[in-house]
Amino acid sequence: MPMFGPSQEDEYLSWKREHPDGYVANIATQPQLDMIHKSGCRTLNRHDGKAETHYLKDCADDWKVLSANSRQRGHSYQLCDICL
Ligand SMILES: [Zn+2]
Repeated sequence: MPMFGPSQEDEYLSWKREHPDGYVANIATQPQLDMIHKSGCRTLNRHDGKAETHYLKDCADDWKVLSANSRQRGHSYQLCDICL
């Protein structure tokens, strides 16, 4: 499952296009709380011209993979209230 950082905005955007039913976790470090979204969630789209990969992204076709990865990192996770 791919992870995308700030230098991989294009790769991340094409992953999202190719996985409309996939899931994306925003990995936060302060606090260590990851937010899991459907790949089409409107809150993932930024309109200010900045890169979406400001947060490191963990992407998968099943959100349970993302929640397991989050636990493995020692993070907590939440499911987005808007899309999940
Ligand atoms: Zn969402």
